[in-house]
Amino acid sequence: MALIVQKYGGSSVADADGIKRVAKRIVETRRAGHDVVVAVSAMGDTTDELLDLAAQIAPIPAPRELDILLSAGERISMALLAMAIHSMGYEARSYTGIQAGMVTDSRHGSARIVDVTPTRVHQALDEGAIVIVAGFQGFNPDTQDVTTLGRGGSDTTAVALAKALDADVCEIYSDVDGVFTADPRVVPKARKLDVIGAEEMLELAANGAKVLYIRAVEFARRHGVIIHARSTFAAGPGTYVLGPGMTPPPELEGAAMEEPIVAGVATDLGQAKITVIGVPDVPGKAAEIFKIVAKSGANVDMIVQNVSAAATGRTDISFTLPKSDATAALRALDAEHADVGFESLVHDDQIGKLSVVGAGMRTHSGVSATLFEALSTAGINIEMISTSEIRISVVLHGDDLAGAARVVHSAYGLDGDIEAVVHAGTGR
Ligand code: ADP
Ligand code: ASP
Ligand code: MG
Repeated sequence: MALIVQKYGGSSVADADGIKRVAKRIVETRRAGHDVVVAVSAMGDTTDELLDLAAQIAPIPAPRELDILLSAGERISMALLAMAIHSMGYEARSYTGIQAGMVTDSRHGSARIVDVTPTRVHQALDEGAIVIVAGFQGFNPDTQDVTTLGRGGSDTTAVALAKALDADVCEIYSDVDGVFTADPRVVPKARKLDVIGAEEMLELAANGAKVLYIRAVEFARRHGVIIHARSTFAAGPGTYVLGPGMTPPPELEGAAMEEPIVAGVATDLGQAKITVIGVPDVPGKAAEIFKIVAKSGANVDMIVQNVSAAATGRTDISFTLPKSDATAALRALDAEHADVGFESLVHDDQIGKLSVVGAGMRTHSGVSATLFEALSTAGINIEMISTSEIRISVVLHGDDLAGAARVVHSAYGLDGDIEAVVHAGTGR
């Protein structure tokens, strides 16, 4: 008998039938003799709908109220899921983040879990119940307020519960069969992976592969939790995410664990580009600009500085950041226009970022040449380039992103023989 933590995402519990389907899977696990703790997301696109609603009421809603509002989404699904399990003759109890002891810091909208005190979860398990915990939410003991963990944060709830309860595995169920070599909605020939290294998964998640939430992967790697990504809609072996020192499950024993040169391709349409034009090419200007941007709360990703024009002694600096941070950054820069002495600002929110990730890049050459060759053959223009030890990213025009992902996926020999299946969800 094992203790299994399962997480079901919004697309798995989008309607009553979905909730009943998930209840059946949970009960099957229980029938197999295991203790089950479930983290559940809000139904379908509920979180987006609540955000849209708030935006109609207030342009910048108070963070405290927004968190209370958003946390309601997961309360609905957890209670309905417990009811569905009851109807099948099994005992289940649902708990909010506070009730399950999900202690976080006080950052509304992106709180971090600092402790889990699952007293009531243990009690319920001891009494033979299946436990359902609302994903994505916690509370801060200092402010006594409800917090949320950031979009996609139910994955983190599941991993943190798995760690706190010393679970045998943390299964994350969604509308795809596991982690693929690319988003199957973008690259139909993407292949499901049986196993992926935590480091590569982190890079893919950080660069747009939302199948697993970056903080959940980070938490799992740090605390030795094995993540098993699976489909709610089909039985299948899924994908294991293994960090250093984690023991592969028996079904993977003997499987080749070599480091692929390229594990996968990630795509991200969530970024914007700001270009600061005509910056005086003297020491200290980049520092001034990025101090202003940092103070606006924006999270800068890539940066490129042009060679300055000899005639003017001025240069252009471009950087990318999440679309949602762009307005604040532009406003902040505009306010300091005269002090910094640049000429103008250009904002482009029609960009796409393509990233190629693989641990084998450390020891293989020619990986970037393949990428540039594939894009050039397809006639796709590159606007920016950045690299890390195990990743190469390029910024392109947003309309080129999907096509670029497909040609690059082929160029690295990642294409599978059959078309990947997406079982549900709206991709929102
Ligand atoms: P959930 O609602 O269950 O949390 P998400 O929508 O957050 O599910 O994540 C699943 C989606 O992630 C898939 O439908 C797929 O479009 C997308 N995705 C992006 N990159 C990948 C990838 N490399 N492998 C699998 N799915 C991916
Ligand atoms: N419901 C939240 C969201 O849509 C959390 C999650 O689904 O993981 O972001
Ligand atoms: Mg998700």
